[in-house]
Amino acid sequence: MLITRHIANSSDHQEMDLRPTKILGIGVNYHAHATEMGKQPPVEPLVFLKPPSAMMADGGAIVRPRGYERVDYEGELAVVMGRRGRRIAVEDALDYVLGYTCLLDITVRDLQKRDGQWARAKGFDTFCPLGPRIVAGLDPSDLHLTTRVNGTVRQDSSTSDLIFSVPMIISFISQAMTLEPGDVITTGTPSGVGNLEIDDQVEVEIQGVGILHAHVVDDVELGDR
Ligand code: MG
Repeated sequence: MLITRHIANSSDHQEMDLRPTKILGIGVNYHAHATEMGKQPPVEPLVFLKPPSAMMADGGAIVRPRGYERVDYEGELAVVMGRRGRRIAVEDALDYVLGYTCLLDITVRDLQKRDGQWARAKGFDTFCPLGPRIVAGLDPSDLHLTTRVNGTVRQDSSTSDLIFSVPMIISFISQAMTLEPGDVITTGTPSGVGNLEIDDQVEVEIQGVGILHAHVVDDVELGDR
């Protein structure tokens, strides 16, 4: 996927082809979202995978599969890795980051509950919009994050409410698997998740990164894929 990488507070930018070997997500990583889902804050990060085939650039169409009650938006801060790393120390973790972007972790809530594991619920084609750009040089510890649906604010939080910090997550995942350049880690969603319907317009805005746009279409519009 082509995307531009910018340096914060600079006009420097370059186009790059983002091809992650894996997209990792963290479940229930905001205090207020844990409360709305009726869950206790986890004692360690809950890691899951989204397939890179679900990625979609800024401005794309989320194809809403038919027959499900809840196809939820989850606005998130995502980290793009810049260097290969294994067993990365927390204090070194940000040295491995290429930059930050906005990500929508689209989830069929019905399937997440029914399947027990989340690969299908979070893995449909078009279920991972990300962008509009990757920005380097940000401090990920207190970035304002807003999700709007049809112009109405539905999520309004800050990464300061994260249960597990960005450096901690990078270190934690890298104890299990090697992180490769281009790998994406999406850090979890704040409270205010909800269902998307056909024709909804959804935006995620993160301070210093920009606004990611997507809209929702019916499955039939693209025919067989
Ligand atoms: Mg999520």
